[in-house]
Amino acid sequence: MHSFTEENYLKTIYYLANRRQGEVSTNALAEMTATKAASVTDMLRKLADKQLIHYKKYQGVRLTDEGERLALQIIRRHRLWEVFLVQKLGFGWDEVHEIAEELEHIRSEELVTRLDTYLGYPQFDPHGDPIPTPAGKMPETGYRKLSEVEAGEGVCLMAVLEHSTEFLKHLDHSQLTLGCVVTVNEINAFDKSVLVQIASGRSVFISHEVARNLLVN
Ligand SMILES: [Zn+2]
Repeated sequence: MHSFTEENYLKTIYYLANRRQGEVSTNALAEMTATKAASVTDMLRKLADKQLIHYKKYQGVRLTDEGERLALQIIRRHRLWEVFLVQKLGFGWDEVHEIAEELEHIRSEELVTRLDTYLGYPQFDPHGDPIPTPAGKMPETGYRKLSEVEAGEGVCLMAVLEHSTEFLKHLDHSQLTLGCVVTVNEINAFDKSVLVQIASGRSVFISHEVARNLLVN
């Protein structure tokens, strides 16, 4: 049995390791969890005692196989709950992340299995993130960022990297929804903002910061 905080650390280490492709530093964890480095160190020692991470003082941390298995279970529950909240309870995609942060800690395997069945085995959550399989595999997507697309290319919006309410509301206001096909018409040489055309024919201005947080195919 692991505490909520321990579960959140595993999840955070998993995300940071994937983003940076390697070991995760104590500082990065302290920043991401908004806690003091000393408390992070305490927690890492606990997780290492439980053999969920590989940890040596002053070096980075890495999940063990068991740690990764647990992290993927938590992420799977989080994403399934988000689907449930949007599809079955009518929440907006900008309203579900915080609620799922709580629901993801309910451990009943039977509940998750039935939830998955009830939802029809969804493969993606409302933010376009792939849902890890019951066996604990994270599906590969191969998406790239909109900020990396060349002018003249047409792409489909597949997922968002940022899940905050403000960001998702901003996308709604700009009529940028997942599944939407956009053509990059212009890339500003100075600040890398892009001008895209959406299916309705309308042109939408997208700042570099927003484009960096949109994943396309
Ligand atoms: Zn979420």
